[in-house]
Amino acid sequence: MIRNMPKPPLIVGNWKMYKGVKETQSFIDQMMLAPLPSEKQIWLAVPFTAIGPAVQAAKGRLVIGAQNMHDASEGAFTGEIAASMLTELGTEFVILGHSERRTLFHESNTFIHRKVKAALQSGLKVILCVGETEQERKEEKTKEVLKTQLLECLKDVPEEAFTKISIAYEPIWAIGTGKTATPEIAQKTHRDIREILESMISSKAAQEVFLLYGGSVKPENASSLMKQEEINGLLIGNSSLKHELFLKIIHFDQS
Ligand code: PEP
Repeated sequence: MIRNMPKPPLIVGNWKMYKGVKETQSFIDQMMLAPLPSEKQIWLAVPFTAIGPAVQAAKGRLVIGAQNMHDASEGAFTGEIAASMLTELGTEFVILGHSERRTLFHESNTFIHRKVKAALQSGLKVILCVGETEQERKEEKTKEVLKTQLLECLKDVPEEAFTKISIAYEPIWAIGTGKTATPEIAQKTHRDIREILESMISSKAAQEVFLLYGGSVKPENASSLMKQEEINGLLIGNSSLKHELFLKIIHFDQS
């Protein structure tokens, strides 16, 4: 196995169904007043209605994305949104396969796979979320579950498209629960994910994929997680909703 090469950290906020236009503008205005480290990539996945205003307010210093989309280019899909409607607003990436979508909205790997293909075709970057339940971890099925999710969601994706895909490892038991995977568990699982990727594409291409950890990341644990060799970035829910907390995470101690 080729060892993972250092990458500029990728820090992503996932706002879920929080913040309308006004709150978004004021959050981003606050962010713009703070010095943002140029060596880190800072992305924000905001609600659909806030995407346009977020893109305007961020002036290219933050990358704005969506949290979901449909795979069809248009059609009778009440309440859904197409990739082209997102790119028209300046959306640069989309989170797909988040466990809240898988659990609450019954999204299957097959559906997520169709979305991944459609997003890439439209020029959107993809953050694909994978993760196991507490029970699956107890039964030592984590690697198997992740392998199925990766193989099914990324089926037939050409190797060159992997430069547009990041994988977020989000153990379901750690999302919004306050329980974080220890840096050791996260590192080991990221190593497993890297190995699975190496079975799908060349080692070189697999090594270049950004692997993000998500699940109750806070200012107190960001640094120890980011010190792990296989953790290239963080996907942050609750702690990305307050600009003070998000900024603290962005400025995690890299020493
Ligand atoms: C998430 O929603 O992707 C997430 C990681 O949430 P939290 O940080 O709140 O656990």
